[in-house]
Amino acid sequence: MPRIVQKYGGTSVGDVERIKKVAERIKATRDEGNEVVVVVSARSGVTNELIARAKAVCDQPSERELDMLLATGEQETIALTAMALHGIGVAAVSYTGAQAGILTDKAHTKAKITTINAQPIDRDLKAGKVVIVAGFQGINNDGQITTLGRGGSDLTAIALAAAVKADKCEIYTDVDGVYTADPRVVKTARKLEEISYDEMLELASSGSKVMQSRSVEFASKYGVVFEVRSSFNHNPGTIVKAEVAYMEKVVVRGVAVDKDQAKVIVSNILDKPGSAAKVFRALADANIIVDMIVQNVGRHGIANLTFTVPQTDSQKAVKALEPVLDEIGGGQVAVHEHIAKLSVVGVGMKTHSGVAATLFQCLAAAGINIDLITTSEIKISVVISLDRADEAARLVHAEFGLDNT
Ligand code: ASP
Ligand code: MG
Repeated sequence: MPRIVQKYGGTSVGDVERIKKVAERIKATRDEGNEVVVVVSARSGVTNELIARAKAVCDQPSERELDMLLATGEQETIALTAMALHGIGVAAVSYTGAQAGILTDKAHTKAKITTINAQPIDRDLKAGKVVIVAGFQGINNDGQITTLGRGGSDLTAIALAAAVKADKCEIYTDVDGVYTADPRVVKTARKLEEISYDEMLELASSGSKVMQSRSVEFASKYGVVFEVRSSFNHNPGTIVKAEVAYMEKVVVRGVAVDKDQAKVIVSNILDKPGSAAKVFRALADANIIVDMIVQNVGRHGIANLTFTVPQTDSQKAVKALEPVLDEIGGGQVAVHEHIAKLSVVGVGMKTHSGVAATLFQCLAAAGINIDLITTSEIKISVVISLDRADEAARLVHAEFGLDNT
């Protein structure tokens, strides 16, 4: 019998009516002659609510207790999903992460899956049951409950698909799949039939969050092909898989805009070995993730360093840099929040020239100034003014022939 792993996100199991709908879909999949493993998230909003409650009783909740608390969100939905299946005559059993044999390391709130003992699930599937597994959680060697980091139910699903050797893995969410751009902004955006792991990861890091990035990395490492699709309709979704030759015909596959970055400029610092190292050491020690970095050519021994950080960390960055400024020549730090990062992504860039030229020309023609530029093998990102970001996305989307006409 073919084996399918289906993952339903928080909005898909958001209330009891939706859980009943999910149960119908699971039943239909089983009735088609498949063995079905289901992973569910907590109801949407529940994890946030639990975190808020933890903070309401203690400034810095212990991470062990936080995991104990957060794991309850998924425990509710697995049980309700199993009951909903029983209600329509389907044999089903729910399992916590621990019961499903999901072993993790000891890093509470951001644990990594180390192994999965798939025997209990295997046994139940062979006995004709649907197995419902709590996403986002596992157990460590000490028998402690752990969670896998926000959005971690995706990772549970992908890892289970690998462990039970599933023939198919379906990630059900509240969007129809992966689009060439955010359809709320770019009305002409198209749903992609397929996309490579690398493109999906680059789009995610550029502000198009459909799935947890770690789960896509995991899928890429273990070759788990999966489909992202909506639980609210029966439209085909987007298949995510390793890149294949014919994909390269498309040079740019998607355009993403990230409005959550801030630009930090450290000016008037000494242009000598060690300045950049001190700046980025201070940021790293404060656990701040730096994205784009540009250093201008030094003049008269003085240089400027510009980089982007998540907007939520911009003030933390300023504080982290204050103590090192003296050591690097007493420069100044300034933060600009009215920026957006626009990225074009596509594996075809590896073998095609001119993508940067086309992008810059398109922006120039609209009088949109480019502030910073970075590139990877399959991505070009530019920082532009926040006010023009949506317009730029529409123009660039059209320019690269992505519009749905
Ligand atoms: N409930 C968890 C969260 O909100 C895990 C998930 O939804 O994937 O982050
Ligand atoms: Mg979620």
